[in-house]
Amino acid sequence: MSDSIPLLMIPGPTNVPDRVLQAIAKPCIFHRGAEFADILAECTEGLQKVLGTAQPVITLAASGTGAVEAAVANILSPGQRLLAIRTGKFGERMGEIAAAYGIDVAWWDCLDGLAADPDQLRQRLAADHFDAVSIVYNETSTGVQQDIRALGTVAADADVLSIVDAVSIAGGAPVDMDAARLGAVITGSQKALMLPPGLAFVALSEAAIERANRSTCPRYYFDLPKALKSLQKGQTPYTPAVNLIFGLCEALRMLHEEGLPNVFAHHERLAAACRAGIASMGLAILPADPARASVIVTAVKMPEGLDSSQLVAHVRDGANILISGGQDALKGKIFRIGHLGTCTIDDLARTITAVAEALTQMDFPADAASAADAARHAYQTYQPYTPGE
Ligand code: PLP
Repeated sequence: MSDSIPLLMIPGPTNVPDRVLQAIAKPCIFHRGAEFADILAECTEGLQKVLGTAQPVITLAASGTGAVEAAVANILSPGQRLLAIRTGKFGERMGEIAAAYGIDVAWWDCLDGLAADPDQLRQRLAADHFDAVSIVYNETSTGVQQDIRALGTVAADADVLSIVDAVSIAGGAPVDMDAARLGAVITGSQKALMLPPGLAFVALSEAAIERANRSTCPRYYFDLPKALKSLQKGQTPYTPAVNLIFGLCEALRMLHEEGLPNVFAHHERLAAACRAGIASMGLAILPADPARASVIVTAVKMPEGLDSSQLVAHVRDGANILISGGQDALKGKIFRIGHLGTCTIDDLARTITAVAEALTQMDFPADAASAADAARHAYQTYQPYTPGE
């Protein structure tokens, strides 16, 4: 990228590839014609592969939160019970949305870098009645990637519908919605899908569709059964974000040309590279279980007595690279490096260098060259874990 444009190493929005930008810049077309229907059909098919589902995927003009709200409000009804797994800011948001619709929310806290344990989920679902459980697959605020297959399977076995926020990870790691028997999956455009913000997606299982047909929550714009009906005609109920959908089509083509397994492996390698660079500076990651460290964002504990907001500012001012600080209770205490979408090992090595230089400026000496070398070495030598080997 040009040096004058900041390199986005935040966990979204991410850098948008030129191919996608050019697609978005095409002249707009009529959204109720055959040409648009073909494009929407191609996008839906591409998204189904990304989410690992044969179910239709609804494209909404919204940010990720809009689609989370749509899923919650369509699946549940006032008075029903939701077990909300509060893994951090985004886990909390799912429960807050449900509470706003009069849903009875029970919180389960797995905060500050903890992952939700599938056995504990099994016990909670056995001990009490719940109509649904909300899970954030990748808790962007703590850099913890949940074992979604295990959690989804536990919920399905207990006959509790899972509502899964995959906003920051779909396209960066497998979602396997059907195999994991997830009830609903939500994602957004501005993360691993390499688009600008503005689109969000919801896939509903048959059980979730059935619930949506019966839900008594108020809804109008985000009426998912209505959206599913329109989708069958190659349309959306209201005017879609046509040009972003051009971009989506191109981004999905790029992902499928590369091959999803290769895209996922690249994200795993980048995450391993980031962790190696961080470790080489003597810093620790936030996730308590390193096996649950996210493939798309690495959350790092700040050295005692130093404020991560200052680090973020130094990296921005010194290297024109944007990284993120902590949110809410973690503000100042952690920093986060996003490595998703178009991110390359060169982008990451540049970022690791900039972080080391910024820490040194803050009187925490770090060897930038060694840290960048450690990251590159980990990227090159990364061996994916294969169960049973
Ligand atoms: N869920 C997760 C896991 C996220 O990371 C984000 C944004 O970072 C959201 C939800 C909210 O998405 P948006 O900001 O697009 O509404």
